[in-house]
Amino acid sequence: MTATLIDGKELAGIVRREVTGRTAASAIAPGLATVLVGEDPASGIYVASKRKLSVAAGFRDLHRHLPSDVTQEELERVVDELGADDEVDGILVQLPLPAHLDAAAVIARIHPDKDVDGLTEVSAGRLALNRPGLRPCTPSGVIRLLDWAGVGIKGAHAVVVGRSDLVGRPQAQLLLARDATVTICHRYTADLASATRTADILVVAAGVPGLVGAEHIKPGAAVIDVGIHRTEDGLCGDVDFESARQIAGHLTPVPGGVGPMTIASLLQNTLTAAEFRRGIR
Ligand code: ADP
Repeated sequence: MTATLIDGKELAGIVRREVTGRTAASAIAPGLATVLVGEDPASGIYVASKRKLSVAAGFRDLHRHLPSDVTQEELERVVDELGADDEVDGILVQLPLPAHLDAAAVIARIHPDKDVDGLTEVSAGRLALNRPGLRPCTPSGVIRLLDWAGVGIKGAHAVVVGRSDLVGRPQAQLLLARDATVTICHRYTADLASATRTADILVVAAGVPGLVGAEHIKPGAAVIDVGIHRTEDGLCGDVDFESARQIAGHLTPVPGGVGPMTIASLLQNTLTAAEFRRGIR
């Protein structure tokens, strides 16, 4: 059996066109404030592409670039200012922040209705209680990929490897909200392979290159690889692609799987935040 590959680039394009159409039809131009601190090249590239794609969707670019030696107080003041500014619908603080800054304290200052990364305690609480709210971008993108590929979530056994605030934990809750039976694995899971082999849906977000191979996968399972690592041979994920594709039913490639969906979800969240703030939703 050779897995059907799930093309995240194609779906991200579809989602972006959908957001662009909805934005044009509603005659609102959501304002997205990306906040970049310092000159980290990878963060610079991510923020540039978020800004470019949000402008292409018809959003207003309200970017703030702060010097790498900005103080905690100054950064929090900027985040407060954006929270109070009616022009701003979404606030995204690009992580990681330089080591002298307390990222959790900065995130705590983000206005919850503008929290388009879904990382504040309020957003996490809304998700945990299955109430409407802004959801973290990468796990939302994974749900969208599964739906698009026709993978049934309701009643399926979903196993999530990883329990980070950004991916694993919210991923498990999103799958639970869609009526999957959910198992969460992490670095203290005694026998990873025997847990993952029971999965109909396997989402791997451990940050360990090649952690999951054929021996971890039930034949026919949908395997979603959230990892991304730069190696001498190019990019690779947490899943050993060549062995996994021999046994999985569906598989996301790296690159071109989950990655492109993250920005698409960000655009969707920003439009949703703008609609909520204007009482359209
Ligand atoms: P991400 O942001 O992609 O979720 P993090 O590095 O923040 O990545 O989190 C890694 C997660 O993966 C942690 O929850 C950790 O427990 C889990 N993890 C790391 N190594 C393993 C492993 N060998 N087996 C299972 N889980 C692991």
